[in-house]
Amino acid sequence: MCGPGDVRVEDRPDPTIQQPTDAIVRLTATCVCGSDLWGYRGINDPTDPQPMGHEYCGVVEAVGEDVRDISVGDFVVGGFYASCNACAHCRAGFPNGCVQHQWYDGCQAELLRVPLADGTLVATPGQPDEALVPSLLTLSDVMATGWHAAVMAGVRPGGTAVVVGDGAVGLCGVLAASQLGADRVIAMSRHASRQEVARRFGATDIVEERGDEGVARIRELTAGVGADAVLECVGTGDAMNQAIACARPGAMVGFVGVPHGVELPIGRMFSRNVGVRGGMATVRTYLPDLMERVWSGRINPGLVFDLTLGLEDAAEGYRAMDERRAIKALLRP
Ligand SMILES: [Zn+2]
Ligand SMILES: [Zn+2]
Repeated sequence: MCGPGDVRVEDRPDPTIQQPTDAIVRLTATCVCGSDLWGYRGINDPTDPQPMGHEYCGVVEAVGEDVRDISVGDFVVGGFYASCNACAHCRAGFPNGCVQHQWYDGCQAELLRVPLADGTLVATPGQPDEALVPSLLTLSDVMATGWHAAVMAGVRPGGTAVVVGDGAVGLCGVLAASQLGADRVIAMSRHASRQEVARRFGATDIVEERGDEGVARIRELTAGVGADAVLECVGTGDAMNQAIACARPGAMVGFVGVPHGVELPIGRMFSRNVGVRGGMATVRTYLPDLMERVWSGRINPGLVFDLTLGLEDAAEGYRAMDERRAIKALLRP
């Protein structure tokens, strides 16, 4: 990304093994993330041109001499950052706090250097069918992030979950809430194509209204009680306020939308005992379980990809998502 609205596909040197714990992965698929759009829209501070992308799956092409668990030829998925899977924070289930935490040097590419390969990557049981690739790709971020929202919100069997946000993460949050056993999953969405995916992911109700009207509608649907768990998957102040207002007294809001200008209404949270918990998704923690759910066909989160392009057309992927013509763009290197 060379600046707001300016995405170019350019040649860069092939990545090489730099540390004995590295792997080089030839990417089968990568994608554009909603969080890539913050920079695209000029909302984040401008930086120098930077390689983009943090979601990927593919085949291991080379490994460093200290890599033990991952082999050349494995089909692998990794979370959107590298982590060791061994330090105190990783063992506690929060690899985002890993003492060796590292970002990638751009996954919207043909080849990627993955640091801490043994800790970061999880291999599939065999080579996946082509049809499974989009769903496996979502495990790198959006499906794991939607899952994190549901876990942080305390979704458990029975009860009602409300999902604020109908981007790819919000839709995956619907799928997660449904998988975790919520009886009723209410998706807040006003886009027909997204509503359809939400229903396929297990939404039992759709609420099109927003703001105060949306909150009133949730109250109505829950007999005046409010939701047992709320997933906030947008990251704006409006979305957070809406999420908190939808929660019943004592409920938790799980938030995963990268916060931009969010201020918590602490007085309202105090009077109603509503909590907020969340943050960067702990992808590596959920990856083995989610991979098994995809591999066995129990979930098909790849439905969030409604646009597939060659990597050379990455700029169109950004445009389509920015203009909300596409939920999420898959890029084929
Ligand atoms: Zn992402
Ligand atoms: Zn660690």
